[in-house]
Amino acid sequence: MSKDLTKSIFELLNKNDHEQLVYCCDKEIGLKAIIGIHNTALGPAMGGTRMWNYNSEEEALNDVVNLSMAMSYKSSLAGLNAGGGKAVIIGDPKIKNEKFIKRYAEFINDLNGKYWTAQDVNMTSGDIINIKKTTNYVVGLPKEHGGLGDSSAPTAFGVYLGMKSAMMNMTGSESLEGKKILVLGVGKVGSKLINYLLKEGSLVYAYDIDPKNLNVFSGTNIKILQEDMIYSNEYDIFSPCALGGAINKDSIDKIRCKVIAGAANNQIADEEIVLNKLKEKKIIFIPDFLINAGGIISVYHEQIGDINSQKVMDMTSNIYDKVTDVLKFSQENDTSTYNAAIQLAKNRIHNISEK
Ligand code: NAD
Repeated sequence: MSKDLTKSIFELLNKNDHEQLVYCCDKEIGLKAIIGIHNTALGPAMGGTRMWNYNSEEEALNDVVNLSMAMSYKSSLAGLNAGGGKAVIIGDPKIKNEKFIKRYAEFINDLNGKYWTAQDVNMTSGDIINIKKTTNYVVGLPKEHGGLGDSSAPTAFGVYLGMKSAMMNMTGSESLEGKKILVLGVGKVGSKLINYLLKEGSLVYAYDIDPKNLNVFSGTNIKILQEDMIYSNEYDIFSPCALGGAINKDSIDKIRCKVIAGAANNQIADEEIVLNKLKEKKIIFIPDFLINAGGIISVYHEQIGDINSQKVMDMTSNIYDKVTDVLKFSQENDTSTYNAAIQLAKNRIHNISEK
C-alpha cells in the first residue's frame, strides 16, 4: 500500500475525530464493505448499512465517514446512550444473496457489539432478518420478529413537532394552520407527515418522482406539483423528505421559504456555499440529524430491549424542545443552526468523555 493512501485515510479520520474504520472483504463472494465507527463515548456505535454501487472506493469511504459522524450527532442530540456508526457495502444490490448477507453479518459479529447495524438504502427487511440469524448486533426488525417495526411513524412525528417548534420560536405561535408547506418526497415518512399537516389545516404542496405515491391524497388543502412547479411558489416551510442533497448550490438559489425542516438525511450538499446562502436569504434550517431522530430513537429502544412504541413516541416528542435549544444556541452564539446543532451534540459527547 502506498504511504500516501495510508496517510490520507488517517488524515480523514483525524479531521472529524473518527475512532475506527473496518474494511471487510471476501473475494470469493464479492463482498466489499466498510464499517465506520465515529464515536462510542456515549454507547455502542449505531447506524444502518447502505448498499450502493459507488463510482469509486473513495466515494464509499467518504460516504461512510460522513454518515457515521452524522449518526454520532444524531444520537447525541436525541439524548441516547449510543454512539455513531454506519456501514456501506460496495456493489450492485442485485449481488446480495443469503450467503453474502451471512458473511457480512459475520463481520459485524466480529466487532462484538461495538457497532450495531440497521436498515438503510437498498437493504430490505428480509436482509435484516437474515443478518439476525448470524449476529445479535442488528436492530430495526419487523414486529413479528421481535422488533419495533417500521420507524417512519416516529420519524414523521418528530419532523412535524420540529416544524411546530420552529414556528413557535419564529412567530410566537406553533400553529401550522394555513401555512404553506412543500413536502418533497412522499414515501413512508413524507406521506405520514402530510397526514399530520392536513389534519392541522396546513396548505400542502407535494412532489414525488413516483406519481402513484401522490394518488392517495385529495382535497382542497393539498396541491400535487409537477417537477417544474416545485420552486414556483413561496413557502413557509420546505420539507425535503426524499434523498440527500436536496439543498445544494443550484436549488438554494431557487428555494423561497422561511424554514427548511425535513426528514431526508444529509440534506445539505455544497456545505459552504449553502450555509452562506441560507444566512443571506434568512432561511432557518432545522438540521436533519436533529429533526429526523425518530428512527434512531426507535431502533435504540430495540437495542436496549425496551420494545415499547409509546416510549419511542414520548422520547421523540422531545425534539420540540431540542429544536428550541438549537435555535437559542444559534442566536446567542451568532452561528448557523447547523453549526449550533453540531456544537451541542459535541458538547454532550465531550462532557461524557471527561467523566
Ligand atoms: P422512502 O423510500 O419510503 O421515500 C422516499 C420517497 O422519495 C419515495 O417516494 C421516492 O419516490 C421519492 N423520491 C426519490 N427521489 C426523489 C426526487 N428526486 N424528488 C422527489 N421525490 C423523490 O423513504 P422514507 O423512509 O420515507 O425516508 C425518506 C428520507 O428520510 C430518506 O432520506 C431517509 O434516509 C430519511 N430518514 C428516514 C427515516 C425512517 O425512519 N424511515 C429515519 C430517518 C431519516
